[in-house]
Amino acid sequence: MAYCCECGKKIKGNVGRSEYNIVCSDCIQKKVNFIRMLERETGIEVHNGHYFVMAYKAWQEKQRRDLHRELRRLKGRMGLSLPSLAGILGVSKSHCSKMLSGQRPLNEKALKFIDEISGDLSEDFLATPSQVKHLKSKT
Ligand SMILES: [Zn+2]
Repeated sequence: MAYCCECGKKIKGNVGRSEYNIVCSDCIQKKVNFIRMLERETGIEVHNGHYFVMAYKAWQEKQRRDLHRELRRLKGRMGLSLPSLAGILGVSKSHCSKMLSGQRPLNEKALKFIDEISGDLSEDFLATPSQVKHLKSKT
């Protein structure tokens, strides 16, 4: 009997005990989906491991930028001044403005703030163009 080396699930079918690492079809599908997502998000075609590393790094960079943008968006949406946001995040004003612009990494409080607040305000963020039109027509 062989087991998937990723999730530990039994692998059915004609695979004997193997000295090699075997990955089940679900785990392979997950990997493929992840690579497709990387390609879509970064525009880098993943031909081999080298491209994978490149695309993965680019994706992480993109995620990082998105979080800074999200922090700026929340600040605007909540009408927070720089001093009050700095207070919430427990940093100085200049540190806070650097976090907003992406020159400084986000601290734990900032990540928590984004996590807690953006859930409540995410409706319009996730709305599709037609939904936005609908929302606008209501006002
Ligand atoms: Zn698996």
